Amino acid sequence: MLNVPSQAFPAAGSQQRVAPAGQSRNKVVLKPGHSLLDWIRLTKSGQDLTGLRGRLIEVTEDELKKHNTKKDCWTCIRGMVYNLSAYMDFHPGGEEELMRAAGIDSTDLFDEVHRWVNYESMLKECLVGRMAVKPSPALQAHTEKTESTHLNGLSAPPSLRPEPLSAPLPAKDHRPRYDWFQTDGTVNIVVYTKRKIPSAGCAVVDLQDDNLRVEMLLGRMSYLLYWRLSSRVQDHVDVQTAHSVGKVQLCLRKSVKEKWTQLGQSLEHHDTFIQCKDRGLFYRECVLLSKTDVTHNTQLLRLQLPPGSRMQVPVGRHVYLKTSVQGTDVVKPYTAVDQMLIPPSQSSAEVGSDIHLMIKVYPDGVLTPHIANLPIGASLSVGGPEGSLTLRVLRDVTHLYMLAAGTGFTPMARLIRLALQEFTVIRKMKLMFFNRQERDILWQSQLDELCTKEERFEVQHVLSEPADSWTGRRGRIDACMLQNFLERPENSKCLVCVCGPAGFTESAVQLVRQLDFSEEELHVFQA
Ligand code: NAP
Repeated sequence: MLNVPSQAFPAAGSQQRVAPAGQSRNKVVLKPGHSLLDWIRLTKSGQDLTGLRGRLIEVTEDELKKHNTKKDCWTCIRGMVYNLSAYMDFHPGGEEELMRAAGIDSTDLFDEVHRWVNYESMLKECLVGRMAVKPSPALQAHTEKTESTHLNGLSAPPSLRPEPLSAPLPAKDHRPRYDWFQTDGTVNIVVYTKRKIPSAGCAVVDLQDDNLRVEMLLGRMSYLLYWRLSSRVQDHVDVQTAHSVGKVQLCLRKSVKEKWTQLGQSLEHHDTFIQCKDRGLFYRECVLLSKTDVTHNTQLLRLQLPPGSRMQVPVGRHVYLKTSVQGTDVVKPYTAVDQMLIPPSQSSAEVGSDIHLMIKVYPDGVLTPHIANLPIGASLSVGGPEGSLTLRVLRDVTHLYMLAAGTGFTPMARLIRLALQEFTVIRKMKLMFFNRQERDILWQSQLDELCTKEERFEVQHVLSEPADSWTGRRGRIDACMLQNFLERPENSKCLVCVCGPAGFTESAVQLVRQLDFSEEELHVFQA
């Protein structure tokens, strides 16, 4: 299964794995004065971070290879070359990790670890130039003529990587298809996904001006339709899903009642069916509708999508919040949750017009204090959704175990609801929830209430910094705790889901493997 974190990154014994207790959120302990905010300040200081005094150059492969030391570290991401030397001490993953990119094209490495990070904005002052294209003999004459004219403006980075469309496709007749029809006042688009759609839905629709983007998230695959519509429509889209037959119907209202001769003009990547991980992130501006305290430092945000957008976030997937901090885009992933653990069936979130995010505010963070201070009505850029959980992993599961630490609970929240409401085969679902103190437990009363109502559900709390009065379990995750918790009755099929700080996840995965659970029986949530 693809969902177990690669053990190659971070490297065993690297700095990324040795953050002391209390600092586990930072993957390494950054030196004082080396926070993200300090980096942003440095990039605005006017200091020459490339050593080229603002000149942009064309870099050959041989040249790139030469810059492979900590003091002189260049890397190439998507055809653009950056000097990372100044960033070395600011990298949350540590310099050892960053040095893996030294002197090479690190696009794949970057995509593997955090492709959502807005490196163009974060590293714009480190831009050295672009990679020289190795011209094919046929194109050589043309390239020689045109290349230098593009260079100074760096307007069009060359496409050095194959188009994502090259990702392997499933058999042809599994490919979704679409059709459209119209009435006097409406235009209707019908997508046949050719598979069952989970009750949370799978459609992400964005109507921006005359552009209509429709993405279907189908397990690991993404089907995209993208048009410039041939005439104007009102900025509201209706989405109806027939879950069992896998049909999604969109209804748009024409601004003027006239016959359309065509739906529109196809835009980039229209009618493509590729792996979700290869699809570019799409952002839309949302409005902050409300903020509710969940604990002393965690808030539940309700964000309203623009009128032309609908987002049915599949269970366990996350979205990205992007905001500008002192002119630099800062992006972080957050798992979508429901309004409450088991919300009433007709909650507005189900319509896909708003999303809920549970956000812990870290006083020394860059993004979360900014979000916490946003007034109601402020706008926030939301990208995605993304994520690796597919409901296939739950097929035939009889025992679902969840190991969550801190906000690592958020993907479990919707999973619990889904499992209880739709997976009757699951006989037992147990959550072991690790927190520092009792006041840190998210939705504690809802969890307790669910335990009393639902025989199949059980929660065990473990605190690492409990008060003397705490009578429950104490400490950090260990083999002894899991041995009793992860029962494997006869004829059972088990799934263990893990989410939390990197160090916690790593320990949990090791312990679960030691208890002889196979890769198929383990799912790790990672953003
Ligand atoms: P936290 O409060 O710092 O920690 C929660 C619990 O985990 C504490 O009891 C803590 O014990 C324990 N813990 C931390 N590091 C550990 C380690 N190396 N080994 C064993 N136990 C450890 O957690 P948080 O601030 O809420 O952070 C939650 C994390 O989950 C974030 O890193 C977030 O990115 C991640 N998350 C990921 C996803 C996703 O991938 N989809 C979704 C949501 C959240 P101590 O007090 O001893 O440190």
